[in-house]
Amino acid sequence: MSNTIIETKDLRFSYTDAEGVAPIVLDGVNLNIEKGSFVAVLGHNGSGKSTMAKHLNAILQPSDGCIWIDGVSTSDEEMLWHIRSKVGMVFQNPDNQIVATTVEEDVAFGLENLGVEYEEMHKRVKEALIAVNMYDLRKRAPHLLSGGQKQRVAIAGILAMEPRCIIFDEPTAMLDPVGRREVMDTIIRLNKEKHITVIMITHHMDEVICASRVVVLNQGKVEMDASPREIFKNVEKLKELGLDAPQSVLLLHALKDAGFDVEANALTPEECAEEILACLKKREVQK
Ligand code: ADP
Repeated sequence: MSNTIIETKDLRFSYTDAEGVAPIVLDGVNLNIEKGSFVAVLGHNGSGKSTMAKHLNAILQPSDGCIWIDGVSTSDEEMLWHIRSKVGMVFQNPDNQIVATTVEEDVAFGLENLGVEYEEMHKRVKEALIAVNMYDLRKRAPHLLSGGQKQRVAIAGILAMEPRCIIFDEPTAMLDPVGRREVMDTIIRLNKEKHITVIMITHHMDEVICASRVVVLNQGKVEMDASPREIFKNVEKLKELGLDAPQSVLLLHALKDAGFDVEANALTPEECAEEILACLKKREVQK
């Protein structure tokens, strides 16, 4: 059985405006996404990230090229519902994704539309709410929840459809630090424990560290594609592309440039602290 969940081949796309002008937004994207992987997608504003994401669950169709989800082409109209049940999408603003008057009704909404039987629906809603740690608040009105809680309800609504892959388009952009942590912990758990493939567009470099692979888009092309550690070794290139790096990476690069004997390849604050400690110990010994 293939280990690939999503494959794009020479994916090209333009939005045609009223005058028929169509600048290229995706310019030959070739990607293979492995089942169970956690892929972060980076790129400056307008590089094509959201447009690409919308192709991966058939919201948009390519102008040219092909996309397969678990071997099924997204251009096969009869398979659209099948594709969208395999690949769910969570957007930036939880308020736009919540439709019902209680948490559990909201999570059930998509299933009701699919005509899932009551017993099955009840089971799936319960499991989804437990998975995002929101089961205790199932009777609560969504508008009384915090941003992080609302976003977790939106994730539960997608989870209830039992997808194999979830695309997150800047899921923490509108949240405070507590909400961001809750949502990131949820995403990491879904990937690790339920083996759901995660594709996450983000501007927060510290969230990228959680990924197993980073794809950097620039002007509709894949400009970099490697592990977070490899990507963040190349801070200069990221800067050229209008991107940042995690604070820990920037600090070690600054220390190295200032002549300190550190390796600038730590990612997390803990690794960074260890590297600085090791450097200080070396200096003690040399004294
Ligand atoms: P990103 O997510 O990286 O910020 P987008 O995919 O949103 O990039 O946008 C890529 C380009 O496509 C931008 O130039 C943007 O203005 C344009 N674009 C996005 N959505 C539309 C749309 N619905 N109609 C026309 N142009 C669009």
